[in-house]
Amino acid sequence: MHGSSPPLTGSDVSPAELIAARPQLSRHALDGLMLEGVPLAAIAAELGTPTYVYSAETLRSRYAALIAALAAADLEGQIRYAVKANDHLAILRLLGGLGAGADVVSEGELLRALVAGIPAERIVFSGVGKSRDELAHALEARIGQINIESTEELDDLSELVGHLGRAARVALRVNPDVDAGTHAKITTGRAQDKFGIPAGLIPSLYARAAALPGIIPVGLALHIGSQVLSLAPFRKSFAVLAGLARGLRAANLPLERLDCGGGLGVPYANEPAPGPNGLAGALGRAFRGLGVELLLEPGRWLVAPAGLLLATVVRVKSGRERPFVVLDAGMNDLMRPALYDAWHGIVPVAVTDGEPIGGADVVGPICESADLFARNRPLPRLCPGDRVAVLDTGAYGRVMASSYNARPLAAEAMVSGERWAMIRPRQPFQDLWAKERVPDWL
Ligand SMILES: *Cc1c(COP(=O)(O)O)cnc(C)c1O
Repeated sequence: MHGSSPPLTGSDVSPAELIAARPQLSRHALDGLMLEGVPLAAIAAELGTPTYVYSAETLRSRYAALIAALAAADLEGQIRYAVKANDHLAILRLLGGLGAGADVVSEGELLRALVAGIPAERIVFSGVGKSRDELAHALEARIGQINIESTEELDDLSELVGHLGRAARVALRVNPDVDAGTHAKITTGRAQDKFGIPAGLIPSLYARAAALPGIIPVGLALHIGSQVLSLAPFRKSFAVLAGLARGLRAANLPLERLDCGGGLGVPYANEPAPGPNGLAGALGRAFRGLGVELLLEPGRWLVAPAGLLLATVVRVKSGRERPFVVLDAGMNDLMRPALYDAWHGIVPVAVTDGEPIGGADVVGPICESADLFARNRPLPRLCPGDRVAVLDTGAYGRVMASSYNARPLAAEAMVSGERWAMIRPRQPFQDLWAKERVPDWL
């Protein structure tokens, strides 16, 4: 594997250290693991498991920290939350209410953002494969910005603008040819990746866009990848963007904003991470004095630490080298370990004597060897029926879930202070086949 994504093995950070580094998590002497003011055991008792639980306060405080970092760096910036990280309406409503817009990558996400009450002018449409229908619907909804990924897409959009008589505010997405140093499956800014337009083609394409009737170029965009844990790739790609912006200004082309994408990484294993202040420093160095508005498209950084996945130990199976702790949550609920070798903290919910007694392989029930959440993880003794929380699963968790092995989609809940609410019931079994049709000739 490649880059700095933490592997399934190799991190000895203990449950106590994981809890200590997460402000909304605590361990109560009687109630066990708490998220804000709510004992997670109470949610598990009522909704069963697997269940995703999100902390509203974590979302609010992280959004506020991003805004504060931009202000401290004296930057004019706006947030366009990357909906694909977690598209639940309650999360979109909460972030939209704080002032966030949305970065969407499909018509479904566009509709979700609108249904959640995010104003169309605060919506950015990204993605390499927007269909003509999707572009037409985006024009009809009068969204704020369409990020163009290719010459061909600009041609399609221009034709649609002509047909529909609706103007389009566009940004050209630059491929800065920078390696984000992240897992190969989530790096997007290298020349060989499918995303964006090579920097060398930007000046002429931007001039062409400005000359097209109904196309209003507002600036440039980039997004170099996800779970980026070092500032160097941000600095390099922002320098490319600033250079291009200066060139466009010098050519008297209109440019009002730079969309700097998402990608800010989170410390899943308490590793050092740049955070919003580091990012704002890099933005300031590249763009201060240019007189442009900045857009940020964070997904993971805002929502990953706000969520956890509650699961129950089904069985502890003895293994040749160490025990297997088999959970009722699997790769169908949380794909990240199987897909990206992602490391997630796993913390017992009940009060335990705390100290890990030895390594275990934590696995799910799915009939795939990739259904493995952690290898040789130091954990306290766990017994069937015990509950655990898989931490930092608010991003790219539930949105990637499937009902593989005919396992219904997990329930979801949100806490805020001492309140909590179920925000999605567990999928009933009959929903699994409700829309299936058996031809009458069978
Ligand atoms: C996925 C994506 C994001 C969000 O990435 P995170 O790593 O979750 O912050 C932002 N912009 C675009 C264009 C994306 O595709």
